[in-house]
Amino acid sequence: MKIATVDVDVLRVPVDRPYVAAGRAVDANWHVLARVTTADGVQGFGYIVYPRPDLMMAIGHASRELGEHLVGLSVLEPEAAWDRLARRGDWVGPGGLLHCALTPLDVAVWDAAGKTMGQPLHRLLGGYRDRLPTYASDGLWVSLSPDELAASAKSHVDNGFPAVKLRLGKEPTPELEARRVHAVRAAVGPDVRIMVDATESWSLTRARQTGRILQDSGIAWLEDPVHHLDVAGLAALRRRLDIPIAAGEHLYHLDAFRSLLDARAVDVLILDLARVGGVTPWRKIAALAQAHRIPVCGHVVPEIQVHLLCAVPNGYLVEYVPRSAGILKSMPRLERGELVAPQKPGLGLELDDAAVRRYRVSS
Ligand SMILES: [Mg+2]
Repeated sequence: MKIATVDVDVLRVPVDRPYVAAGRAVDANWHVLARVTTADGVQGFGYIVYPRPDLMMAIGHASRELGEHLVGLSVLEPEAAWDRLARRGDWVGPGGLLHCALTPLDVAVWDAAGKTMGQPLHRLLGGYRDRLPTYASDGLWVSLSPDELAASAKSHVDNGFPAVKLRLGKEPTPELEARRVHAVRAAVGPDVRIMVDATESWSLTRARQTGRILQDSGIAWLEDPVHHLDVAGLAALRRRLDIPIAAGEHLYHLDAFRSLLDARAVDVLILDLARVGGVTPWRKIAALAQAHRIPVCGHVVPEIQVHLLCAVPNGYLVEYVPRSAGILKSMPRLERGELVAPQKPGLGLELDDAAVRRYRVSS
């Protein structure tokens, strides 16, 4: 179970249909993929994915360099492994690029640990359940007209999703923002949960105005209404609006999550696996949220987040955005609106080796 080799690759995985998100054209999902192999031949893998090329090669280089320090460590001691790598990079951390470089390695170690123990990750990490409700989040962008948005939401519901999340933030008035939500509601009917993500695009005043109008729309949460560092603003919105506030996907470190939770600024905490630095810190943040009676959700990578969220009692919903489907043999299956955690050991996922070779970018 000692790590013998570590390989890191950067992959550019083209998307089927290019789109515009946060004002940028997206034509590919960039991955940093790490593979660890133990002396007894167990291989674990992990990755981060982002729909932009920026700094991906740099993260790949950093991950490759950090990975050299995993050699000789046991995959059954991920805390020791994480600590060793974090100390190597502590002068540029915590957080930021260091966490993004650490995450593929940490996930790979956990995958190999599960394979060594013969247990799926959700059970190895706690084993609270084996499936969770999911929501569709892909293709519901601000660049679509209200009609296009409604059609996209309806197609997700027709494909079995019990909830959808749409983006807001580009309309000139709160009323026009609300019109987008109403168009989706009319298309999907009263029983589908609708979440709204403002992607930090509003001022506090605009967030308050729009939130007031959305209060009667029956939305399940309002995500990132203001910038993530405006903790006081989030807390004020949570106090004033009769609508659950969700945030957290931009935070890196346990201390930042503690500040957000202590300020009673959110009803739902969202964790981005790449930014928090992998599975090892993810568990601590989820436990901290539990101590504050706050449910946790994952940001993207549903095939990995489903394990983590199923492992803890305060796991809430899995965001379904299949950005890595192009390098995997299969994605977790959707059953009656729930995403089922893979039952095979570790992540229970299989890389499509031919696709990995095809999409590898030389460094
Ligand atoms: Mg978001």
